[in-house]
Amino acid sequence: MNRTQKVITENFNTYKVEQIDKYIENGGFQGLKNALEKGKDFIIDELNISGLRGRGGAAYPTGKKWNGGRQTHADVKYVLCNADEGEPATFKDRELLVKDPYKVLEGLAISGYTFGAKEGFIYIREEYEFLHDKIRKAIKLAEENGYLGKNILGTGFDFSIKVFSGAGAYVCGEGSALIESMEGKAGRPRMKPPRIGVAGYMGKPTQSNNVETLAIVATVLKMGAVNYAKYGTEKSIGTKMISLCGNVKKPGTYEIPFGMSLREIIYDIGGGIVGDKDIKFLQLGGVSGPLMPKKYIDTKYTYEDLEAEGFGIGSGAILVADETKSVIKFLESVSYFFFHESCGKCTPCREGKRQMKKLLDKMSKGTATTKDLKNIEKISRIMTDASFCGLGQTAATAMLTAIKYFSPELCSSIDEIKAL
Ligand code: SF4
Repeated sequence: MNRTQKVITENFNTYKVEQIDKYIENGGFQGLKNALEKGKDFIIDELNISGLRGRGGAAYPTGKKWNGGRQTHADVKYVLCNADEGEPATFKDRELLVKDPYKVLEGLAISGYTFGAKEGFIYIREEYEFLHDKIRKAIKLAEENGYLGKNILGTGFDFSIKVFSGAGAYVCGEGSALIESMEGKAGRPRMKPPRIGVAGYMGKPTQSNNVETLAIVATVLKMGAVNYAKYGTEKSIGTKMISLCGNVKKPGTYEIPFGMSLREIIYDIGGGIVGDKDIKFLQLGGVSGPLMPKKYIDTKYTYEDLEAEGFGIGSGAILVADETKSVIKFLESVSYFFFHESCGKCTPCREGKRQMKKLLDKMSKGTATTKDLKNIEKISRIMTDASFCGLGQTAATAMLTAIKYFSPELCSSIDEIKAL
């Protein structure tokens, strides 16, 4: 049974960006109206009841984050929508911005009101350049209709939004690197503390949220948290946008309730595997996620069930690899990606990836030794433990899980073992 939902995605394919009136007819901006009418305590209560956890990957409780943020005092504060969706195999934020841009703007305005900011930014990855004009048009129409700009809905709340473009660096998905990029500097992560919530853009408190998180905020404030909490499980409340890709028959973005099994997602929603082949492994949460062997496909897609098995939801990507795929070739592509994206600031990440790439080349050519395999594991652990930011800390996750679950295949590439 296909259990996809239309909660966050309720407005998909119902309007074009020029048709703000249709968004309003669909109940659009009702979340913002409720927020402005009932106040900040109400917003925080609703977010807590909704159980919303940030959808950018960190999964921190949004109500808790926003409650802390609104208590930060400063003359100027900013809010930010992080649309630097650079995690390979992840494309659900793009879908939200393409198919329901007003909902994201509405969520950002609610975050601005709660945080005490008069200005917000949408930082869109360079590769989504086609979205810039569309989002600017949506901002302009929202201003003309009184939902952005001065004295929103006659409440005295002023809030404007500017669009920023990324420059193609994966590391700018990390909040402080993104802020550096917005300030015109090289996109490299900052030393913390202070976190950007305390000293972000231009040294001012800046609260950042993912596109999907903001769309859910607008949805929850419109439909009521109790209604939203009817979806999902007791601990993983609500629905989730997933990017299903790889060797499935029907790749795409889907909204599902938490609690479906991975098998249901792949077969009932994704239509099964191309050519009706068997599954070899999955990678959840993008290229920085672990490799999951097929034996786990009956695991429920919830934070708690996946974490119990050593996996995670991350960015919401579910990449499926069929039985014909080579783990070594896959690791090579992962390694190449991180090698290319390392910002070069710290040694464990910069040099670790260089060494890992060399060793994987040897494995791929069948010239690696058992010492090489031991070294690759050692380098992976050093990168994970000693890298400065999340990029380096997760760059070896696929490798470490491949060693754990696919060591016979890795060893089969080693000369000395083949000769035994
Ligand atoms: S871990 Fe990698 S991306 Fe992060 S600061 Fe170090 S070199 Fe740059």
